[in-house]
Amino acid sequence: MPAPTLTFHTLGCRLNQSESDTLATAFSKEGYQIVDNTTAAGVPVTAGVPTADICVINTCSVTESAEAKCRHIIRKTLRKSPNTFIAVTGCYAQVGVSALKKIPGIDLIAGTEYKMMLPSLVKQVEEKGVSKLSEPLVFHTPKIGQDDFSLPLPAHDLFYRHTRPNIKIQDGCDFFCTFCIIPFTRGRERSRKWDDVLLEASLWAAQGYQEIVLTGVNLGEYAAEGRGLADLVEALEAIDSLRRIRISSIEPTTVPLRLYDRMRDGKVCPYLHLPLQSGSNTVLSNMGRRYTREDYIRFVKEAFARVPDLCLGADVMVGFPGEEDVEFDETITLIESLPFAYLHVFPFSERKGTRVTRMNLPKVPSSTIKKRSQYLIDLSKKKRERFYQNAVGKSFDVLFEHRNEVGLFEGLTGNYIRVGVATDENLSGQIRPVRIEKVTDGLAYAVLHGGGLLLSHLPPLPQQINRRNHKKR
Ligand code: SF4
Repeated sequence: MPAPTLTFHTLGCRLNQSESDTLATAFSKEGYQIVDNTTAAGVPVTAGVPTADICVINTCSVTESAEAKCRHIIRKTLRKSPNTFIAVTGCYAQVGVSALKKIPGIDLIAGTEYKMMLPSLVKQVEEKGVSKLSEPLVFHTPKIGQDDFSLPLPAHDLFYRHTRPNIKIQDGCDFFCTFCIIPFTRGRERSRKWDDVLLEASLWAAQGYQEIVLTGVNLGEYAAEGRGLADLVEALEAIDSLRRIRISSIEPTTVPLRLYDRMRDGKVCPYLHLPLQSGSNTVLSNMGRRYTREDYIRFVKEAFARVPDLCLGADVMVGFPGEEDVEFDETITLIESLPFAYLHVFPFSERKGTRVTRMNLPKVPSSTIKKRSQYLIDLSKKKRERFYQNAVGKSFDVLFEHRNEVGLFEGLTGNYIRVGVATDENLSGQIRPVRIEKVTDGLAYAVLHGGGLLLSHLPPLPQQINRRNHKKR
């Protein structure tokens, strides 16, 4: 009998993506054939894709519109594939279980505590010969465990679509920012066991992967057996064949200073995504953030003093209740004064169950939120252009990924500059030195050191290749 096929729709953050990859490993070890029919953004590709026997929808609950998108994807999948067994997990399965139970056609709901058990839960149902259920099986508990954890390790023959594997090292958060639901969807802080992380990184390195990305909800709070993030990074650097370690988003107050030394002298990419949220002390305090505007500026100056070629990115939230023009102006002046390479701009939307809903702060009209967001998006674009322009004439190592729509081979520098080179070689998965020649929005054109074609050998290049900004966390 052919192996049952299984597909994923993953919504939300990089951590969810990482968990879907881990689940894919576990499902494949259970004998399922993983069929990849989602785009990187988690939007189902429906045309011409074979329907899988099982679909796992890994949901996000960060805002109410994220939840609405989950419901939309679930309903769309049910319409397109009425005979597929639908298993829903992720943050929305934790906090939105009653809404999900009302959607006819879902077969299984697994909350946070049961997420990683999904392969064995699905297997048990499947072994009973069940394909669709009249009511969903619900595996859910409001209480989420606080113990450190291990995860299934990657299989050698696993189909894998990324150039840089995400390795989850931490989950949960104890910070309870007033706008954030994550401490309720993912529970309190806990860390992955030390040896488990090292073993997974070694396995990826042994399979030829040159870069890993460490992910978690609150990465800087990693703590295992009395050791922290900087200790872990130093232990990972000792894996010979691993060339790069990238740290995903990290809270400003939690960055260990030793990390900057590893960025400058070691294998850690000079890349720092440091959520800002606001440049106003009033708003930061209402958000329950643990730093002031002045603290943030100090963190950034310290980082650049130690890592000159750093790529600095930030999340900024627009329209938090009580944000008047004067507070928004403070955000602008702070952003203008610091060398950000890009911003992720998030318009505030109220999220039931978060503390801010009980704070009686004046709401910002949606038209104002829209205008302010657009202002920051434009500012982000200018910042990125400046960051890219500064790289012209310099040399970088690039980890190459794929050939793009105009025939250039694309990849990323350690400091997150997207580079394209003209070459006949297949550079996929290789790290090669390049010199950046010129830039347009979102792409730096470069030549390979000691090889590669000159740009003049190419057909005319488009002014701008339509591409997503930097990946969100
Ligand atoms: S630090 Fe704040 S925003 Fe980030 S996950 Fe924790 S509570 Fe949410």
